[in-house]
Amino acid sequence: MSLALRCRGLTKRFAGVTALADVSMDVKAGTLLALLGPSGCGKTTLLRLIAGLDRPDAGTIEIGDRVVEATGVHAPPEQRQVGLVFQEYALFPHLSVADNVAFGLPRGQDRTARVRDLLGQVGLNGLGSRMPHELSGGQQQRVALARALAPSPRLIMLDEPFSNLDPALRDGVRREVQRVLRAAKATAIIVTHDQEEALSMADEVAVMMDGCIQQQGAPAAVYWWPVSRRVAEFVGDINVIDGRAIGHVVVCDLGTVAILEEVVGPVDLLIRPEALQLTPDIRGQAVQRDRTFYGHDQMIEVQFDSGLRLTSRVAPMFPFAPGNRVRVQLSPDGEALAFPRTDS
Ligand code: ATP
Repeated sequence: MSLALRCRGLTKRFAGVTALADVSMDVKAGTLLALLGPSGCGKTTLLRLIAGLDRPDAGTIEIGDRVVEATGVHAPPEQRQVGLVFQEYALFPHLSVADNVAFGLPRGQDRTARVRDLLGQVGLNGLGSRMPHELSGGQQQRVALARALAPSPRLIMLDEPFSNLDPALRDGVRREVQRVLRAAKATAIIVTHDQEEALSMADEVAVMMDGCIQQQGAPAAVYWWPVSRRVAEFVGDINVIDGRAIGHVVVCDLGTVAILEEVVGPVDLLIRPEALQLTPDIRGQAVQRDRTFYGHDQMIEVQFDSGLRLTSRVAPMFPFAPGNRVRVQLSPDGEALAFPRTDS
Protein backbone atom coordinates (compact mmCIF):
# COMPACT_ATOMS: atom_id res chain seq x y z
CA MET A 1 0.00 0.00 0.00
CA SER A 2 1.35 3.45 -0.84
CA LEU A 3 2.19 5.98 1.85
CA ALA A 4 0.13 9.13 2.23
CA LEU A 5 2.51 10.58 4.82
CA ARG A 6 6.11 9.95 5.70
CA CYS A 7 7.79 11.84 8.56
CA ARG A 8 11.43 11.32 9.39
CA GLY A 9 13.46 12.63 12.33
CA LEU A 10 11.14 15.51 13.20
CA THR A 11 12.46 17.61 16.06
CA LYS A 12 10.91 20.77 17.43
CA ARG A 13 12.05 22.82 20.41
CA PHE A 14 10.34 25.80 22.04
CA ALA A 15 12.47 27.88 24.41
CA GLY A 16 13.83 25.10 26.60
CA VAL A 17 11.07 22.55 25.84
CA THR A 18 11.63 19.71 23.39
CA ALA A 19 8.10 19.22 22.04
CA LEU A 20 9.15 16.63 19.45
CA ALA A 21 12.27 14.49 19.69
CA ASP A 22 13.20 12.70 16.48
CA VAL A 23 9.70 11.61 15.43
CA SER A 24 9.34 9.24 12.49
CA MET A 25 5.89 8.11 11.43
CA ASP A 26 4.27 6.63 8.31
CA VAL A 27 0.59 6.68 7.43
CA LYS A 28 -0.60 4.36 4.67
CA ALA A 29 -3.03 5.75 2.10
CA GLY A 30 -6.67 5.14 3.01
CA THR A 31 -6.05 4.41 6.69
CA LEU A 32 -7.34 6.10 9.80
CA LEU A 33 -4.54 6.63 12.28
CA ALA A 34 -5.17 7.71 15.87
CA LEU A 35 -2.36 9.76 17.39
CA LEU A 36 -2.83 8.97 21.07
CA GLY A 37 -0.98 10.52 23.97
CA PRO A 38 -1.30 12.45 27.23
CA SER A 39 -1.62 16.20 27.38
CA GLY A 40 1.58 18.00 26.40
CA CYS A 41 3.23 15.02 24.67
CA GLY A 42 3.55 16.88 21.35
CA LYS A 43 0.49 15.79 19.34
CA THR A 44 -0.62 19.26 18.26
CA THR A 45 2.95 20.27 17.48
CA LEU A 46 3.29 17.29 15.14
CA LEU A 47 -0.01 18.15 13.43
CA ARG A 48 1.06 21.76 12.96
CA LEU A 49 4.35 20.70 11.36
CA ILE A 50 2.55 18.33 8.97
CA ALA A 51 0.05 21.07 8.06
CA GLY A 52 2.91 23.52 7.46
CA LEU A 53 1.74 25.94 10.18
CA ASP A 54 5.13 25.60 11.91
CA ARG A 55 8.60 24.55 10.83
CA PRO A 56 10.63 21.78 12.47
CA ASP A 57 14.19 22.33 13.71
CA ALA A 58 15.14 19.13 11.90
CA GLY A 59 13.53 16.37 9.88
CA THR A 60 11.58 15.81 6.68
CA ILE A 61 7.91 15.43 5.74
CA GLU A 62 6.57 13.88 2.55
CA ILE A 63 2.87 14.04 1.68
CA GLY A 64 2.07 11.59 -1.10
CA ASP A 65 5.13 11.66 -3.32
CA ARG A 66 5.97 15.29 -2.59
CA VAL A 67 8.61 16.50 -0.13
CA VAL A 68 6.89 19.38 1.67
CA GLU A 69 9.45 19.91 4.45
CA ALA A 70 13.21 19.41 4.44
CA THR A 71 16.34 21.49 4.74
CA GLY A 72 15.68 24.43 2.38
CA VAL A 73 12.15 23.20 1.52
CA HIS A 74 8.93 24.51 3.08
CA ALA A 75 5.69 24.17 1.14
CA PRO A 76 3.11 26.63 2.54
CA PRO A 77 -0.05 25.14 4.12
CA GLU A 78 -2.28 25.91 1.12
CA GLN A 79 -0.04 23.83 -1.15
CA ARG A 80 0.02 20.74 1.04
CA GLN A 81 -3.47 19.42 0.27
CA VAL A 82 -4.13 18.79 3.95
CA GLY A 83 -7.55 19.32 5.56
CA LEU A 84 -7.86 20.29 9.22
CA VAL A 85 -10.73 19.88 11.68
CA PHE A 86 -10.35 21.39 15.14
CA GLN A 87 -12.26 20.68 18.34
CA GLU A 88 -14.09 24.00 18.27
CA TYR A 89 -15.36 23.27 14.72
CA ALA A 90 -14.19 26.75 13.59
CA LEU A 91 -17.19 27.30 11.31
CA PHE A 92 -17.80 30.85 10.05
CA PRO A 93 -20.79 31.95 12.17
CA HIS A 94 -22.09 34.45 9.60
CA LEU A 95 -22.09 31.95 6.69
CA SER A 96 -24.75 29.29 6.04
CA VAL A 97 -23.88 25.62 6.26
CA ALA A 98 -23.66 25.39 2.45
CA ASP A 99 -21.41 28.47 2.25
CA ASN A 100 -19.17 27.10 5.00
CA VAL A 101 -18.69 23.89 3.00
CA ALA A 102 -18.25 25.78 -0.30
CA PHE A 103 -15.50 27.88 1.28
CA GLY A 104 -12.95 25.13 0.69
CA LEU A 105 -13.84 24.63 -3.00
CA PRO A 106 -12.04 26.22 -5.92
CA ARG A 107 -14.07 28.76 -7.87
CA GLY A 108 -15.46 27.83 -11.27
CA GLN A 109 -16.31 24.26 -10.32
CA ASP A 110 -20.02 23.31 -9.99
CA ARG A 111 -20.01 24.21 -6.33
CA THR A 112 -23.73 23.74 -5.68
CA ALA A 113 -23.72 20.09 -6.76
CA ARG A 114 -20.50 19.34 -4.89
CA VAL A 115 -21.80 20.97 -1.69
CA ARG A 116 -25.03 18.97 -1.95
CA ASP A 117 -23.02 15.80 -2.44
CA LEU A 118 -20.76 16.56 0.56
CA LEU A 119 -23.72 17.38 2.83
CA GLY A 120 -25.27 14.07 1.76
CA GLN A 121 -22.02 12.24 2.61
CA VAL A 122 -22.06 13.60 6.15
CA GLY A 123 -25.80 12.95 6.61
CA LEU A 124 -26.92 16.61 6.54
CA ASN A 125 -29.12 16.58 3.43
CA GLY A 126 -31.40 19.61 3.24
CA LEU A 127 -29.65 21.60 5.99
CA GLY A 128 -27.53 23.76 3.67
CA SER A 129 -29.44 26.97 4.34
CA ARG A 130 -29.22 26.71 8.15
CA MET A 131 -26.79 28.88 10.08
CA PRO A 132 -24.17 27.12 12.27
CA HIS A 133 -25.87 28.17 15.53
CA GLU A 134 -29.03 26.37 14.37
CA LEU A 135 -27.21 23.02 14.46
CA SER A 136 -26.28 20.66 17.30
CA GLY A 137 -22.62 20.22 18.26
CA GLY A 138 -22.47 16.89 16.43
CA GLN A 139 -24.00 18.40 13.29
CA GLN A 140 -21.57 21.33 13.39
CA GLN A 141 -18.72 18.85 13.64
CA ARG A 142 -20.01 17.09 10.51
CA VAL A 143 -20.16 20.43 8.64
CA ALA A 144 -16.53 21.03 9.60
CA LEU A 145 -15.70 17.58 8.28
CA ALA A 146 -17.58 18.21 5.00
CA ARG A 147 -15.68 21.49 4.59
CA ALA A 148 -12.34 19.78 5.19
CA LEU A 149 -13.21 17.00 2.72
CA ALA A 150 -14.46 19.46 0.06
CA PRO A 151 -11.18 19.96 -1.83
CA SER A 152 -10.41 16.17 -1.67
CA PRO A 153 -7.26 16.58 0.43
CA ARG A 154 -4.49 13.98 0.42
CA LEU A 155 -4.62 13.89 4.20
CA ILE A 156 -7.20 15.03 6.71
CA MET A 157 -6.24 15.75 10.31
CA LEU A 158 -8.71 16.05 13.17
CA ASP A 159 -7.43 17.56 16.44
CA GLU A 160 -9.46 16.27 19.44
CA PRO A 161 -12.61 16.51 17.29
CA PHE A 162 -15.02 15.05 19.84
CA SER A 163 -13.86 16.61 23.09
CA ASN A 164 -16.46 19.40 23.00
CA LEU A 165 -19.34 16.98 22.52
CA ASP A 166 -21.67 15.76 25.18
CA PRO A 167 -20.53 12.24 26.24
CA ALA A 168 -23.94 10.81 25.30
CA LEU A 169 -23.52 12.08 21.72
CA ARG A 170 -19.84 11.30 21.36
CA ASP A 171 -20.01 7.64 20.45
CA GLY A 172 -22.60 8.21 17.72
CA VAL A 173 -20.63 11.11 16.20
CA ARG A 174 -17.43 9.03 16.29
CA ARG A 175 -19.14 6.21 14.37
CA GLU A 176 -20.55 8.73 11.89
CA VAL A 177 -17.19 10.44 11.31
CA GLN A 178 -15.53 7.05 10.88
CA ARG A 179 -18.19 6.04 8.31
CA VAL A 180 -17.76 9.31 6.36
CA LEU A 181 -13.95 9.02 6.29
CA ARG A 182 -14.12 5.41 5.13
CA ALA A 183 -16.74 6.17 2.45
CA ALA A 184 -14.54 9.03 1.17
CA LYS A 185 -11.51 6.64 1.22
CA ALA A 186 -9.74 9.44 3.08
CA THR A 187 -6.40 9.13 4.83
CA ALA A 188 -6.89 10.62 8.26
CA ILE A 189 -5.06 11.33 11.50
CA ILE A 190 -7.25 11.76 14.57
CA VAL A 191 -5.50 13.32 17.55
CA THR A 192 -6.86 12.18 20.88
CA HIS A 193 -5.89 11.58 24.49
CA ASP A 194 -8.80 9.13 24.87
CA GLN A 195 -7.63 5.52 24.56
CA GLU A 196 -11.11 4.15 24.00
CA GLU A 197 -11.65 6.57 21.12
CA ALA A 198 -8.31 5.61 19.57
CA LEU A 199 -8.81 1.86 19.92
CA SER A 200 -12.40 1.85 18.72
CA MET A 201 -12.07 4.15 15.70
CA ALA A 202 -8.67 3.68 14.15
CA ASP A 203 -7.04 1.17 11.84
CA GLU A 204 -3.73 2.00 13.50
CA VAL A 205 -2.78 3.68 16.74
CA ALA A 206 0.44 5.65 17.29
CA VAL A 207 1.13 6.15 20.99
CA MET A 208 3.08 9.32 21.73
CA MET A 209 4.78 10.26 24.99
CA ASP A 210 7.43 12.87 25.82
CA GLY A 211 7.69 13.99 22.19
CA CYS A 212 8.37 10.47 20.86
CA ILE A 213 6.24 7.84 19.13
CA GLN A 214 6.53 4.92 21.54
CA GLN A 215 4.60 2.38 19.48
CA GLN A 216 2.55 2.24 16.29
CA GLY A 217 0.34 -0.68 15.30
CA ALA A 218 -3.13 -2.17 15.04
CA PRO A 219 -5.36 -1.35 18.05
CA ALA A 220 -5.40 -4.96 19.29
CA ALA A 221 -1.61 -5.26 18.97
CA VAL A 222 -1.00 -2.07 20.96
CA TYR A 223 -3.52 -3.21 23.58
CA TRP A 224 -2.26 -6.78 24.03
CA TRP A 225 1.44 -6.29 23.25
CA PRO A 226 2.41 -2.84 24.53
CA VAL A 227 6.14 -2.14 24.30
CA SER A 228 6.41 -0.84 27.86
CA ARG A 229 4.58 -0.62 31.15
CA ARG A 230 3.84 3.08 30.49
CA VAL A 231 2.20 2.34 27.15
CA ALA A 232 0.26 -0.55 28.73
CA GLU A 233 -1.02 1.74 31.49
CA PHE A 234 -1.96 4.47 29.04
CA VAL A 235 -3.99 2.34 26.63
CA GLY A 236 -6.19 0.61 29.22
CA ASP A 237 -6.60 -0.86 32.69
CA ILE A 238 -3.74 -3.12 33.70
CA ASN A 239 -2.69 -5.18 36.72
CA VAL A 240 0.98 -4.94 37.63
CA ILE A 241 2.33 -7.85 39.70
CA ASP A 242 5.79 -8.28 41.25
CA GLY A 243 7.32 -11.47 39.98
CA ARG A 244 10.54 -13.34 39.29
CA ALA A 245 11.11 -14.59 35.77
CA ILE A 246 12.96 -17.81 35.10
CA GLY A 247 12.99 -18.18 31.32
CA HIS A 248 9.48 -18.53 29.92
CA VAL A 249 7.65 -18.46 33.26
CA VAL A 250 7.13 -15.94 36.04
CA VAL A 251 6.65 -16.97 39.65
CA CYS A 252 4.32 -14.59 41.54
CA ASP A 253 1.25 -14.52 43.83
CA LEU A 254 -0.81 -16.05 41.02
CA GLY A 255 1.47 -19.09 40.97
CA THR A 256 3.47 -19.81 37.84
CA VAL A 257 2.47 -17.80 34.77
CA ALA A 258 3.75 -18.53 31.26
CA ILE A 259 5.15 -15.65 29.22
CA LEU A 260 6.11 -15.57 25.55
CA GLU A 261 9.52 -13.97 25.85
CA GLU A 262 12.51 -15.28 27.75
CA VAL A 263 13.40 -13.13 30.77
CA VAL A 264 15.43 -13.74 33.91
CA GLY A 265 15.21 -11.80 37.17
CA PRO A 266 12.74 -9.46 38.87
CA VAL A 267 9.91 -8.34 36.59
CA ASP A 268 6.66 -6.42 36.48
CA LEU A 269 4.10 -8.90 35.21
CA LEU A 270 1.35 -7.09 33.28
CA ILE A 271 -2.11 -8.63 32.91
CA ARG A 272 -5.27 -6.94 31.57
CA PRO A 273 -8.31 -7.33 33.89
CA GLU A 274 -10.23 -9.31 31.25
CA ALA A 275 -7.38 -11.84 31.06
CA LEU A 276 -7.76 -12.75 34.74
CA GLN A 277 -10.27 -15.48 35.43
CA LEU A 278 -12.06 -15.82 38.79
CA THR A 279 -13.60 -19.05 40.09
CA PRO A 280 -15.42 -19.24 43.44
CA ASP A 281 -13.32 -21.69 45.52
CA ILE A 282 -12.96 -21.90 49.30
CA ARG A 283 -9.30 -22.91 48.78
CA GLY A 284 -8.65 -20.01 46.35
CA GLN A 285 -5.61 -17.69 46.83
CA ALA A 286 -7.62 -14.47 47.14
CA VAL A 287 -10.69 -12.89 48.72
CA GLN A 288 -13.30 -10.80 46.85
CA ARG A 289 -13.15 -7.21 48.09
CA ASP A 290 -14.97 -4.74 45.90
CA ARG A 291 -16.77 -4.38 42.59
CA THR A 292 -17.81 -1.78 40.04
CA PHE A 293 -20.83 -2.90 38.03
CA TYR A 294 -21.15 -1.60 34.46
CA GLY A 295 -24.08 -3.66 33.20
CA HIS A 296 -22.32 -5.27 30.23
CA ASP A 297 -19.53 -6.42 32.57
CA GLN A 298 -18.15 -5.75 36.03
CA MET A 299 -14.75 -5.15 37.62
CA ILE A 300 -14.08 -7.20 40.72
CA GLU A 301 -11.19 -6.40 43.02
CA VAL A 302 -9.63 -9.33 44.84
CA GLN A 303 -6.97 -9.35 47.56
CA PHE A 304 -4.28 -11.96 48.04
CA ASP A 305 -2.97 -13.03 51.46
CA SER A 306 0.20 -11.05 50.66
CA GLY A 307 -1.91 -7.87 50.41
CA LEU A 308 -1.66 -7.68 46.60
CA ARG A 309 -4.87 -6.39 45.02
CA LEU A 310 -5.83 -7.25 41.45
CA THR A 311 -8.80 -6.38 39.29
CA SER A 312 -10.65 -8.79 37.06
CA ARG A 313 -13.24 -7.89 34.41
CA VAL A 314 -15.88 -10.58 34.47
CA ALA A 315 -19.36 -11.20 33.06
CA PRO A 316 -22.20 -9.36 34.84
CA MET A 317 -23.63 -12.67 36.05
CA PHE A 318 -20.56 -13.52 38.16
CA PRO A 319 -21.73 -13.84 41.78
CA PHE A 320 -19.98 -11.03 43.65
CA ALA A 321 -19.73 -11.95 47.33
CA PRO A 322 -17.38 -9.78 49.41
CA GLY A 323 -15.24 -11.87 51.74
CA ASN A 324 -15.65 -15.08 49.74
CA ARG A 325 -12.52 -16.76 48.41
CA VAL A 326 -11.81 -17.13 44.69
CA ARG A 327 -9.20 -18.88 42.58
CA VAL A 328 -7.44 -16.34 40.33
CA GLN A 329 -5.70 -17.44 37.17
CA LEU A 330 -4.66 -16.23 33.75
CA SER A 331 -7.46 -17.19 31.34
CA PRO A 332 -6.38 -19.76 28.71
CA ASP A 333 -6.44 -17.20 25.89
CA GLY A 334 -5.12 -14.33 28.05
CA GLU A 335 -1.76 -12.62 27.59
CA ALA A 336 0.76 -11.89 30.32
CA LEU A 337 3.77 -9.69 29.60
CA ALA A 338 6.88 -9.38 31.72
CA PHE A 339 9.11 -6.30 31.77
CA PRO A 340 12.38 -6.43 33.73
CA ARG A 341 12.16 -4.16 36.77
CA THR A 342 14.67 -1.40 36.63
CA ASP A 343 14.37 -0.25 40.25
CA SER A 344 15.80 -3.41 41.82
P1 ATP B 1 -2.70 18.70 24.49
O1 ATP B 1 -3.28 17.32 24.38
O2 ATP B 1 -2.77 19.25 25.88
O3 ATP B 1 -3.18 19.63 23.43
P2 ATP B 1 -0.30 18.08 22.98
O4 ATP B 1 0.07 16.66 23.08
O5 ATP B 1 -1.01 18.52 21.76
O6 ATP B 1 -1.11 18.53 24.28
P3 ATP B 1 1.61 20.15 22.33
O7 ATP B 1 0.58 21.24 22.31
O8 ATP B 1 2.14 19.68 21.03
O9 ATP B 1 1.06 18.90 23.16
O10 ATP B 1 2.82 20.65 23.25
C1 ATP B 1 4.00 19.90 23.46
C2 ATP B 1 4.94 20.68 24.37
O11 ATP B 1 5.42 21.84 23.70
C3 ATP B 1 4.29 21.15 25.64
O12 ATP B 1 5.24 21.08 26.69
C4 ATP B 1 3.93 22.59 25.33
O13 ATP B 1 3.88 23.37 26.51
C5 ATP B 1 5.06 23.01 24.41
N1 ATP B 1 4.63 24.02 23.42
C6 ATP B 1 3.75 23.84 22.42
N2 ATP B 1 3.61 24.96 21.68
C7 ATP B 1 4.43 25.89 22.23
C8 ATP B 1 4.74 27.25 21.94
N3 ATP B 1 4.20 27.87 20.88
N4 ATP B 1 5.62 27.88 22.73
C9 ATP B 1 6.21 27.25 23.78
N5 ATP B 1 5.96 25.97 24.11
C10 ATP B 1 5.09 25.28 23.36
